[in-house]
Amino acid sequence: MNRPAWDEYFMELAEVVSKRSTCLRRSVGAILVRDKLILATGYNGAPTGLKHCSEIGCLREEQRVPSGERHEICRALHAEQNVLVQAARHGISTKDATLYCTTEPCVLCAKMLINAGIRRIVFKEEYPDDLARQMLGEADVARVRFMPGEARGMDAPGEACGKDGSDGTL
Ligand SMILES: [Zn+2]
Ligand SMILES: [Zn+2]
Repeated sequence: MNRPAWDEYFMELAEVVSKRSTCLRRSVGAILVRDKLILATGYNGAPTGLKHCSEIGCLREEQRVPSGERHEICRALHAEQNVLVQAARHGISTKDATLYCTTEPCVLCAKMLINAGIRRIVFKEEYPDDLARQMLGEADVARVRFMPGEARGMDAPGEACGKDGSDGTL
């Protein structure tokens, strides 16, 4: 029997979550997990009930803003922001949770994740934001690049890829 390891399992779920994204540029999915339980999910898109970039267009797209710049002119929240907001809305503590995200967080999200008490971030696609990486390191948040297949056999998140573990830690 070929069961997925925990990191693989949650990352696959994050991929499914990303399919709900309404961003014109990149679909991102995020899941908050603690003690192997899913606390909340989020994908990038406009606030609930408001028109999405996919319906009315996006200024960043129209003005051909390069990746990583001028996030504020887009209507969408990032997946990491949405997952934290969903937890807040339902009164779920995010302290000491692990974030599984299909893309590495930007600096805006990194700051929020630090203050939400996230201890570990597992991501698939790299997003080179130097300030985000620097601040997460300063806050002692573990950043782990997920490598499909590599996680197999590991049992619990945090055990094999902890702060001192070398597996995939950047
Ligand atoms: Zn947009
Ligand atoms: Zn972000």
